[in-house]
Amino acid sequence: MGNADRGTSRPHEFNRSGCAKAAPRRRSWDIASKKIFQSSKLHAVDIAYVRKNVVDIRDKVVTSSCPKCLGYRKCDVVAVHSKEWSDEGGSIWGGNVFRIVECRGCETAFFQSTEYCSEYSNTWYDERTGEVEGDDGDIETTWPITEKLPRPEWHKQLIRIDARLDEIVTEVRVAIDNNLNILAGTGIRTAFDYAAELIGVDANLSFRKKIQTLLGRRKISLEEHDALLALTDAGSAAAHRGWKPSFIELKGLAEILDAFLYRAFIVERTTRSLKKTIPSRR
Ligand SMILES: [Zn+2]
Repeated sequence: MGNADRGTSRPHEFNRSGCAKAAPRRRSWDIASKKIFQSSKLHAVDIAYVRKNVVDIRDKVVTSSCPKCLGYRKCDVVAVHSKEWSDEGGSIWGGNVFRIVECRGCETAFFQSTEYCSEYSNTWYDERTGEVEGDDGDIETTWPITEKLPRPEWHKQLIRIDARLDEIVTEVRVAIDNNLNILAGTGIRTAFDYAAELIGVDANLSFRKKIQTLLGRRKISLEEHDALLALTDAGSAAAHRGWKPSFIELKGLAEILDAFLYRAFIVERTTRSLKKTIPSRR
């Protein structure tokens, strides 16, 4: 990185504030500073500021994207481990801070990693303020990743109804969260297939026949009959006809599946326990 003109210059990049960047990304701080001096003719830059934003392993509380709350929350740091590195001259440096944190909102514990590097710093000249602005460009990752499609509370009851059903539904949600849309599309059909078998529908029937059987036994309504036909057809298209559902389409399919599972297992279970507790008429 000895040559200031080396690297990919991207003059049309914009920073988070919407201002054109004065220096391209992924350059050392020294080179970025030089560029700013050349372009804006400023005489002083507070180099220390780039370090003040670096993650501090002594922090007991951090703000992180909670996978359960689906937003940034204050989190208590339960455990921390860090790795640092730098080149021989010390001009390029970086590191990683790994944390186990607990959300103060929902008390979910999760893993958080923050990667920082002198090369990630973004600097720009803000014409409105006449100041050199910057951010540290840290990369934050959490595990589990934030759910794209939040699971309804009643999903927690599925494990008590049938462990395999819970497993299939969970795998479908993991596939959705990880953009495995074809697998999620076929998985939703598999979840319906298995649920129908649990209700007592012959496993050897075609999907169409299974849905007709459910309708005949008044387990589903006519509207649900049509929705489930669409669901199984979508699953078949993903499995055999090269169709890749979008997230929005998957969301719709997951809602149809959820409506079916909720009525078939959760409402049925609640009704049974209610019947036991409500005193009968005299
Ligand atoms: Zn939370």
